[in-house]
Amino acid sequence: MSGGPTIPQKRNLVTAIPGPLSQERLDRKKAFVADGVGTTLPVFIEAAGGGILVDVDGNSLIDLGSGIAVTTVGNSAEKVVARASEQLAAFTHTCFTVTPYDGYVDVAAKLAELTPGDHAKKSALFNSGAEAVENAIKIARHATGRNAVVVFDHAYHGRTNLTMAMTAKNMPYKDGFGPFAGDVYRVPMSYPLRDGLSGADAAARAIDMIHAQVGETRVAAIVIEPIQGEGGFVVPAPGFLPALAAYARENGIVFIADEIQSGFVRTGDWFAVDHEGVVPDMVTTAKGIAGGLPLSAVTGRAELMDSVHAGGLGGTYGGNPVACAAALGAIEEMETHDLAARARAIGDLMQRRLEAIKAEHPTVAEVRGRGAMKAIEITKAGTLEPDPLRTNAVAAYCHQNGIMVLTAGTWGNVFRFLPPLSISDELLEEAFDVVAEAFAATA
Ligand SMILES: *Cc1c(COP(=O)(O)O)cnc(C)c1O
Repeated sequence: MSGGPTIPQKRNLVTAIPGPLSQERLDRKKAFVADGVGTTLPVFIEAAGGGILVDVDGNSLIDLGSGIAVTTVGNSAEKVVARASEQLAAFTHTCFTVTPYDGYVDVAAKLAELTPGDHAKKSALFNSGAEAVENAIKIARHATGRNAVVVFDHAYHGRTNLTMAMTAKNMPYKDGFGPFAGDVYRVPMSYPLRDGLSGADAAARAIDMIHAQVGETRVAAIVIEPIQGEGGFVVPAPGFLPALAAYARENGIVFIADEIQSGFVRTGDWFAVDHEGVVPDMVTTAKGIAGGLPLSAVTGRAELMDSVHAGGLGGTYGGNPVACAAALGAIEEMETHDLAARARAIGDLMQRRLEAIKAEHPTVAEVRGRGAMKAIEITKAGTLEPDPLRTNAVAAYCHQNGIMVLTAGTWGNVFRFLPPLSISDELLEEAFDVVAEAFAATA
């Protein structure tokens, strides 16, 4: 069965979820794959495209997750397939730091053009988001001669040793995996639903803590997700990000926006910081950058990036030529189809549907997010007490009825909706009919 743009755009369930053929594969997975590698929705996928995932039993599910914000341009998007296939046939690897090739430099040039700010920028490419974050910290430490790293409550930055230290949530990301890298300090995030603070007041709270407990002259970098991903799409109050960026600038601290989940038109702008006109010193990107192939980047002020000695940055596969070709294809899709506008339209549709669900179910404490990155937080009605059990019940109903939904949040009580931007309005409306049904059925 072929995938990509040719897949019939229709939800269709022909077996229970999981069906018998997926169940066989799940048994095989159980036998050969480490249990620590979990599964959100237990069906095996055979093809995907548009807004549909097709499983091995022939069920067609609606995708509201994009493989965690990765297939923003859709699965097997035309330009991604064309460019990556051409590259695959030409050569698959040289190692850019052994003998370079154009695709890597083309991606770096595109990143210089698209990321915020009109200063001189340079990039280094890697494979995963965690690797990009690790390298951003290496560069910030090298450039400043300082060690401390400041991160936020509810943050997610990855699963390697340093990025586990930077990630907030214990289960499942950190439990039993320590000791963690040192000199990482956590301060309070702006979380309007839960702290009721203005952006300025929340920033003052965080800055006071950095001053008192870390000392600004020790801080190499402040790292923040402009809209938190795994933390539950927490959108800081207006003014929070600009105040932190100003504080960083005044104190010689490198301000790093981790746009790995929020970047590449997901929020309706190229990057989430664009919404408040914030210009970070460095930006980390991955996920949506390459339409599903593994690629990540650190893009920053040229003088910061160039502070590292030759040979100090790299890795065997970083900026793999096929992944770079895929990224150029994905960016071409975003530009030629104005997918930022599509993200805003999808955001409006989701906001309308989610507000309607909130109006009927007081267990929905808040609808939040920006563009095609929307979430609802689930609490015990009329309180702020998180309700992960209800969240799981609604998710299970959606999964059984052919809707791929993802949860998130420190307390596991948030639904995050990240549809591919190639999904149709019809499929989205149908998906949110099922989400609404799920709330009614589990009330
Ligand atoms: C997913 C994510 C990461 C880690 O990316 P991996 O490719 O899984 O290593 C880092 N930061 C943010 C904001 C993310 O969403």
